[in-house]
Amino acid sequence: MTERTRFAPSPTGHLHIGGARTALFSWLFAKSKGGQFLLRFEDTDIERSKDEFKDSILKSLEWLNLNPDEEPVHQSRNLERHKSLALSLFEKGEAYYCDCSIEELEELRATQIKNKQKPMYDGRSREKNLEYEGKNVLRYKMPDASTSFEDLILGDITVDNRELDDFIILRADGTPTYNFCAAVDDLDMKISTVIRGDDHLTNTIKQLNIIKSLEGNLPNYAHLPMVLSESGKRLSKRDGALDIMDYKSEGYLSGALLNYIVRLGWAKDEVEKFTMNELLDFFDLSDVNSSPSKFSLQLLDWYNNEYLKEMDSSTLLKLLSEIGTNINENFKNIHSIIDVLKVGAKSLKEIEENFDMFVKRPSIDKSDSLASEENKKIIKDFFDNYDFSKDENLESISLRLKDYINNNDLKFPQLGKPLRYALTGRTNAPGIGELIYLLGNEESKQRIKEYLK
Ligand code: GLU
Repeated sequence: MTERTRFAPSPTGHLHIGGARTALFSWLFAKSKGGQFLLRFEDTDIERSKDEFKDSILKSLEWLNLNPDEEPVHQSRNLERHKSLALSLFEKGEAYYCDCSIEELEELRATQIKNKQKPMYDGRSREKNLEYEGKNVLRYKMPDASTSFEDLILGDITVDNRELDDFIILRADGTPTYNFCAAVDDLDMKISTVIRGDDHLTNTIKQLNIIKSLEGNLPNYAHLPMVLSESGKRLSKRDGALDIMDYKSEGYLSGALLNYIVRLGWAKDEVEKFTMNELLDFFDLSDVNSSPSKFSLQLLDWYNNEYLKEMDSSTLLKLLSEIGTNINENFKNIHSIIDVLKVGAKSLKEIEENFDMFVKRPSIDKSDSLASEENKKIIKDFFDNYDFSKDENLESISLRLKDYINNNDLKFPQLGKPLRYALTGRTNAPGIGELIYLLGNEESKQRIKEYLK
């Protein structure tokens, strides 16, 4: 059997971390088994579904390299098919019309709550044998049994069907409802394994029964535990529920983001970094943890730095220009500068920001302790004694700096801190040897002169 999975976002918002993880796990599961990964837009909520979100989800998947193997399915285009199958269940006696008014249902609910019962529809129209009369809904007749399946992550699951009510499959206006559409589409798309968040467990019980009633092949199911914020709450914008494309424009690398996401709830022998090919070899749903995972920006930054460090400067320059940064590729020593900056950078944006210190002369704050008279004296002595006329490589500059420090009875930070400040106006910058080398002797001299003024 060819494995076929799908990612089924509702295009009511952008793709975020949780959705990207569902897509990645579905993609990996299919691809690691030589199967196909499909995309379905669950766009039947006309008010909230937007083409703009479909485009943005597609773009995000493309950036992450999780492209579907077939044209995306748009659920809203299959409504006639959903409707005719719902009516076929009515014909078979597995669905029935219900004419209960809103008031009647509200009264039922109030009574159930008063009697400490679970509020749910009680099947009172089951035996009424109603036909469609223009304003009644079609309900699915939940079989009087229990539903069992083996979840590929959570293991054996059994639910007594009495926990669920006879849910509506066609509204009074004849339009089909979510669970019915999803079940039919999974069947029509020949999905072999449905992978989605565990907030869909109840829907799975409903959809399994629908598929059985339609006499279709049951897919396997795997429910992923939630991704929570660091404080254990639902992810909010502040802690990671950003549009995936925002990660791109902030300067995250798609490989780093994928590597970070795959480790949200999945582990293999405590290994941190995986190439895509390794993931395709190792990934299996049985290694997914069944408890929620937590989003950590710090860990994502660690991954991004690891991936940045491995990239050569030409590739980084290309990526920097793709996200629209202001870096002049013909700038003196540009490749060496990028190679130095990538080591400490959490993102491409940070490389861009730090590149600025090479382009712009610093503005020195005279009141900063790094510009105190005592520090200025150290820098003045250095300026008078260091030979800026020599054209050198990084190693010899570093050696001469070391000699200077030793010969003048200084500790490294005594020279390093104010000199770094003089050269960049910053405290957080590359080493002084690297700075003099990358800026060049002339520019370094000019900057020190400005500082000493
Ligand atoms: N459209 C649902 C959602 O965005 C996904 C349902 C599914 O994967 O079956 O949560």
